[in-house]
Amino acid sequence: MNLVFVGPPGAGKGTQAEAILKAFPIPQISTGDIIRATISGDGALADECRRYTEKGLLVPDDLVNRMVDRRLQADDCRPGFLLDGYPRTVNQAEALEAMLERRGRALDHVLLLDIVDDLLVERITGRRSDPETGKIYHLKFDPPPAEVVNRLVQREDDTEQVLRRRLTEYHEKTAPLLPFYQERGLLRRIDGTQSMAQVRKQILQVLGG
Ligand code: AMP
Repeated sequence: MNLVFVGPPGAGKGTQAEAILKAFPIPQISTGDIIRATISGDGALADECRRYTEKGLLVPDDLVNRMVDRRLQADDCRPGFLLDGYPRTVNQAEALEAMLERRGRALDHVLLLDIVDDLLVERITGRRSDPETGKIYHLKFDPPPAEVVNRLVQREDDTEQVLRRRLTEYHEKTAPLLPFYQERGLLRRIDGTQSMAQVRKQILQVLGG
C-alpha cells in the first residue's frame, strides 16, 4: 500500500500515522523527521535546511526530492510506505510520480486531513515531545504524565509566529496538490475536526483495514 498523507501543520498526521502503521506493515517516511535529523548534524546541508525550517519556510524541492528518492530505495519500502509531509509542492508531487514510475509503482491513496486554520494554532502551540521516547503530547488535549512533564520539549518551529508562516506556505504551495491528486482520482478527504478516534476510524475505512 503506497500512501501519501497531506494536511496542514497540526492537523494530526503524526498521531493518525501511528494507527495506520499498526494496521498495515509499512514504514512511515516523514520528511520533517528526516530534515530534523539532518539539522541535528553538522555541515553545509544541516545549515541550509535550518535556514528554511527556523523561518517556517519549505526546504528547496530538489533537496527533499533527493532525500525521499534515497529513502524509497530501502528494503523496508517494498510492501509500501506512508509518506508524511511529502509531497508539499506540485514539483515534489511530479518528482514522486516519476520516482514511482521508474520503480513500476504508483500511489494507492492520498489522504487529506482537512481542518481550518483557526483550530490549528491551539493544537500546535500546546504540542510537546518527550526526547527520551519520541512520544508527542498536547498540554490540553493529550496531557503528559507528571513523571515526564519536566523533560518535555517544544519544537523550535511550533511557536505561533513560525506556525503562521508554515500555514501560509501550506496554502500557497501545498494546497495546489489537492486538484493535482483529485484529477488522478487519488484524493480521499478526511474531516480533521472530528475526534482522534473518529478520524482514525474514517481513515481505516478508506484503507479497508
Ligand atoms: P513537518 O515536521 O512535516 O511539519 O516539517 C517541518 C519542516 O521541515 C517544515 O516546516 C519545512 O521547513 C521542512 N519540510 C518538511 N517536509 C518538507 C517538504 N516535503 N518540502 C519542503 N520542506 C519540508
